Amino acid sequence: MNAAAEAFLREAAATAANGELHQIVRKGVEHYDAAVERGRARFLDWEAARQRCRKIKREAIDRLDLYLEEFERRVNERGGHVFWAETAEDACRYVTDLAARAGVRTVVKSKSMVSEEIRLNAALETRGIKVWETDLGEFIVQLREEPPFHIVTPAMHLTRRQIAALFREKLGGVQTEDPQELTAVARRELRRAFFSAEMGVTGANFLVADSGAIAITTNEGNARLCSSLPRIHVAIAGIEKVIPRAEDLALLWPVLATAGTGQAITCYNTLVTGPRTASEPDGPEEFHVVLLDNGRSRLLADPEQREVLHCIRCGACLNACPVFRTIGGHAYGTIYSGPIGSVLTPHLRGLAEFQHLSFASSLCGACAVVCPVKIDLPRHLLQNRRNAIAAGLRPAQERTGFRLWRWAMENDRRFTMFGWAARFGWKMARRAGLAGTALDPARRWTKAREMPEIPRHSFRALWRKTHGAG
Ligand code: SF4
Repeated sequence: MNAAAEAFLREAAATAANGELHQIVRKGVEHYDAAVERGRARFLDWEAARQRCRKIKREAIDRLDLYLEEFERRVNERGGHVFWAETAEDACRYVTDLAARAGVRTVVKSKSMVSEEIRLNAALETRGIKVWETDLGEFIVQLREEPPFHIVTPAMHLTRRQIAALFREKLGGVQTEDPQELTAVARRELRRAFFSAEMGVTGANFLVADSGAIAITTNEGNARLCSSLPRIHVAIAGIEKVIPRAEDLALLWPVLATAGTGQAITCYNTLVTGPRTASEPDGPEEFHVVLLDNGRSRLLADPEQREVLHCIRCGACLNACPVFRTIGGHAYGTIYSGPIGSVLTPHLRGLAEFQHLSFASSLCGACAVVCPVKIDLPRHLLQNRRNAIAAGLRPAQERTGFRLWRWAMENDRRFTMFGWAARFGWKMARRAGLAGTALDPARRWTKAREMPEIPRHSFRALWRKTHGAG
């Protein structure tokens, strides 16, 4: 087992035993579920909306090269710059070099999972540049020096008491636990940063090909400040974020808001089309878009799994997932957690290191039911598992076990014999007092669970007894 898989098992076991965290996550998800139910009811036909969103994303991904080139052309026409970053390092180098050339000392950032993916903050900080996360949740986790817990609600795992204590420790003089007052404290800190920053970095929820605009959606208006106050605006987005037409936003924006938080529409929806023009009184002097590949082209080339690029990062699959609800976002050890993270991370960061994530699922299918663009996540988890097995990445005892199981299942007699041997072996192990000890083959299972009593007779034997051999 590699280091990432070991860390995952260790962290997952620790979080699974953390009752307080479960309470916090459960409360958050219950609140979310109720809001989303109300949100879906606002649509005349939620299912038709999902179908239409899927169609838009499929059109964009199937003709990704054309739409990206169209987007680039439009940005250039308006005086912006587009940089194609093949890797995370390329993207970081472009932004840090740009910052160094322009004498940037302070950067304000709005929430961007892609910037987390490329570890932009660390890259900027090593060049002596101060970075401020301006989304409230991101600001909180930045103060805690930890990654986001959830792709939409980064500080979902914290109570207001914990946040108040954090603000007291890091910001000084904060005597309140009132959420509104705590928000006001953060706002005061961040206002100073907005006015002193020379560069603003944002993500992009969508890249609109026909208008060369980036579409950003936030509830705090911070992306609008990041993209308009500093002298330089840099938007970083994965190449899969492109959509064909501005009119597609009429559906994608409300669907993203509904699936993400249960809102009818997010509070601030901004379209940025380039740097300030001669007739405009404000806005950035420079506008740069970094288009990040970082493994996405490999996924695009895979006809079986390309639909994973349809994801609009709403976070719904995380909230629906019983594994995420039990182990939380940090245990995954990756930026993208939950079902989409378990599918995507092995493609972005290597199957050899992260294949274990695709096995951390009961395949209950709840993620596919809620996904607003209808990505068949359980199928992709299975395909990742198949690929891991084909590449010889699973442990030898597991391979042997499944070979044995297949051998037994292929033949009626062998199956009966196998069942009998398993029942007999288990009975003997219990009698000898081996259950739960180092000699117990099921120890890893029984360490945290009760082994059910093995019935004396198999189902087949009972059936024969009551219905006869036929
Ligand atoms: S896979 Fe679907 S549900 Fe999960 S984050 Fe992406 S769009 Fe949302």
